Formats: sequence, structure tokens, C-alpha cells
Amino acid sequence: MKLLVVEDEVKAATYLQKGLGENGYVVDVAGDGQAGLTQATSAGYELIILDVMLPTMDGWTVLQKLREAKVNTPVLVLTARDAVHDRVKGLELGADDYLVKPFAFSELLARIRSLLRRGKTLSDTTLRIGDLEIDFVRHKAHRAAKRLELTPKEFALLSLMARRAGEVLSRTLIAEQVWDMNFDCGTNIVDVHMRRLRSKVDDPFEHKLIHTVRGVGYVLEDRKEA
Ligand code: CA
Repeated sequence: MKLLVVEDEVKAATYLQKGLGENGYVVDVAGDGQAGLTQATSAGYELIILDVMLPTMDGWTVLQKLREAKVNTPVLVLTARDAVHDRVKGLELGADDYLVKPFAFSELLARIRSLLRRGKTLSDTTLRIGDLEIDFVRHKAHRAAKRLELTPKEFALLSLMARRAGEVLSRTLIAEQVWDMNFDCGTNIVDVHMRRLRSKVDDPFEHKLIHTVRGVGYVLEDRKEA
């Protein structure tokens, strides 16, 4: 299992390389954005761990260029705690998961294993669930070949649900991932936006894709009729 760590802080990079190495991964390190992009496009990695704040080219640009080059390797983005828009931006650009610095190494390992289990299909530039198609590079969504007119927030919300299709997502998790809100205060916003999203994604169609799981949250799923 070969992983690429793109991180300019030598101490952090060494720590990751050592820790992941002890867990059976082969780890290459790139010390700036440009080097990271070159390495990620030329060598075959199972996963890329990408810091956002990098010299020569920031992590977002690296991610965008990777996806444009059709490199669909799963990307785990490392963001700063106070970077409010990072999660939404990352979802739009095709990141597969996030970890806020500083993080526990055990948490990083758990995320890496989960991403590797999920495989590469979820990081493809387009995703299809039933007759719903989402293009993460062009920020477009279609249902039954009809273009859905979504706001950036609605697109981020739909992207999150599509990448984790079949998984029930709590309002708290959605609020954290899409609005960077950490408490229950964000859950009403989730309901309001979910209603708007459903009015575009589901209301015009008989077969519903977004489902409410009472007391838990929401799930996007192509359920076969019984
Ligand atoms: Ca950095």
C-alpha cells in the first residue's frame, strides 16, 4: 500500500511517514504543492494525504489539478481548525475526507483505512446514483438527464450525501461538514436546505432518492421498490 504525504512541515511529514510506516504503509513525502502534484500524477498511489497550506501551490490547487488530470486517487485533506470554508470547498473540488489539525494519529489511521476500503469509485469525478448524476469537476448535477439548478450550498450538501450514499448522515455531521458548525444550532439550517434540495432533486420525480430517517438524519439512496 503506497501513500503520498504532501506536507511542507518537516516535523509533521516525518512523524506521518514514521507512524504510517510502522502500520505497514509505504510512504513518500512531497514537501511542496508543485512536487506533490508531479508525484501524484506520475506514480501510482493508493491514497494522498494533502495539507492545504503549502508553498509553490496550495492544496486546493493541487486537488483541482489532480481531478482535472483525471487522477482519481482518494485524497484526505488536512485543514486548519479555523478555515471555515475549507470543507465545502474541498467537497466541491473532489476531496474524499478531511481531518482538522491537530489530529490524533489513531483518527488518521481510521480515516485512511475507511478510504482504502471504500475504493476509488467514490473519488471519480462523476458519480451516478439511480438516474442522478453528479459532476464534481464541473459542479453540475443532472437527474433523468435534466439539469438541476443548485446553489453552491445545495451542491455541497448533495455531494456529501452522494459520496456517502447509503449511509445515514446525522444533522450534526451534515452541519459540521457543509457549514462548519459544531453544535445543534446548525441542525435547523440543515432541515431548511434539505427541504430546498429535495424540492429540486426529488419533488419533480416519482422515485425519491433522499430519505428521512426519523430521529437520526438523512440518507441518499436508490431504494428499489418492494
Ligand atoms: Ca503546511
